[in-house]
Amino acid sequence: MGISKTLLQKYAELIVRTGANVQKDQVVQLTISVEQNAFAAMIMEECYKAGAKKVNVDWTFDMQSRLNYLYADQETLSAVLPWEEEKLKQMVKDLPCRIFIASEDPDAMNGIDPQKLSSVMQRRGTVIKPYRNAIDGKHQWVIAAYPSEKWARKCFPDAEDAVDRLWDAILKTVRVQEDNDPVEDWKVHTDFIQGKAAWLNRQGFTSLRYHSANGTDFTVELIPGARWEGAGAVNNNNGAFYIPNMPTEEIFTSPAAGRCEGTLVAVKPLSWNSQLIENFSITFENGRAVSCRAEKGQELLEQMIHMDDGAAMLGEVALVPKESPVNQCGFLFYETLFDENACCHCALGMGFKEVLPGGDDLTMDEAREKGINDSIIHVDFMIGADDLSIEGIRPDGTVEAVFRNGTWA
Ligand code: ZN
Repeated sequence: MGISKTLLQKYAELIVRTGANVQKDQVVQLTISVEQNAFAAMIMEECYKAGAKKVNVDWTFDMQSRLNYLYADQETLSAVLPWEEEKLKQMVKDLPCRIFIASEDPDAMNGIDPQKLSSVMQRRGTVIKPYRNAIDGKHQWVIAAYPSEKWARKCFPDAEDAVDRLWDAILKTVRVQEDNDPVEDWKVHTDFIQGKAAWLNRQGFTSLRYHSANGTDFTVELIPGARWEGAGAVNNNNGAFYIPNMPTEEIFTSPAAGRCEGTLVAVKPLSWNSQLIENFSITFENGRAVSCRAEKGQELLEQMIHMDDGAAMLGEVALVPKESPVNQCGFLFYETLFDENACCHCALGMGFKEVLPGGDDLTMDEAREKGINDSIIHVDFMIGADDLSIEGIRPDGTVEAVFRNGTWA
């Protein structure tokens, strides 16, 4: 069977026009696996049709990462070489529109020493971060997915038509069908999400209280004036509206770092560094994760929380109703892009300074002073139980139901 050329074309167009919203004379940087070279060509062509000045492709290859981690030593892998830094400097200069196509084998790093992985990530992350900060809010970007054979097999181990099934799920969640106008559907979807975000912003909640029967009992303080956002963002450099994640269902903000209390119980496994953490909970005191329990991946979870000072604090709280099409697919995608859009979640690590008024122009130090968490990690974990209730508390102490039974109250 396989996916039809028409659908693929629609999808490529959606990614370039609605997702990245490539503008005339922009440089585009496309990151995609060598296995998806035919789709890469399709995307490139769409970019040029949209007026791109130049499209550069960064090819990725699962086996390249795996073999390097297997055989090269930690010291060598941790080094960010001069040519890599020159490339990052060029990126800061060009501010390219960035398109990422995710298709990784979730098991690509199986058996690799997690200590080695996190240490390399930590050291490389420290060098790369200032360049990332420098382009933050000043360029358009989008992550979308393309099902590889191995990824599909991971999701549907026993199915002969695993790839087709993963395609079906992906296209459903990104609203691309034979008989619809995806661009129009995305307008409706974006309006809905932004309407909910606007409602939350009008409430001016100072904190949120989470409760569910599985043991989640948690309160988090919000940053006064910080906005709830969702669906899209604006490139402050040229005013272009873009959609960073396809699919996207969440409305999110960055809470006050170091200001939460209680326990969050995960409702879905977490895939971190290609390894699974299952049936876990994290307990916070004075805003920091002080203990965690996992039936599987305990050591990994502890490593994650200790990646750096900010890794034990929250950088994101996000609201997603349980009716989300991702949740309705009913399986784990082993890919944050999808799994984080299944239900309500929080993220440990880096916050988003752009939720602050004028946030894009703040340095990370200034943003940190206002309560945004800073870290080299940003890891989402799902806490949206079917009975989850969330209450918003206003400055005068009044309480408003935000979520009831896992969905908008
Ligand atoms: Zn999120």
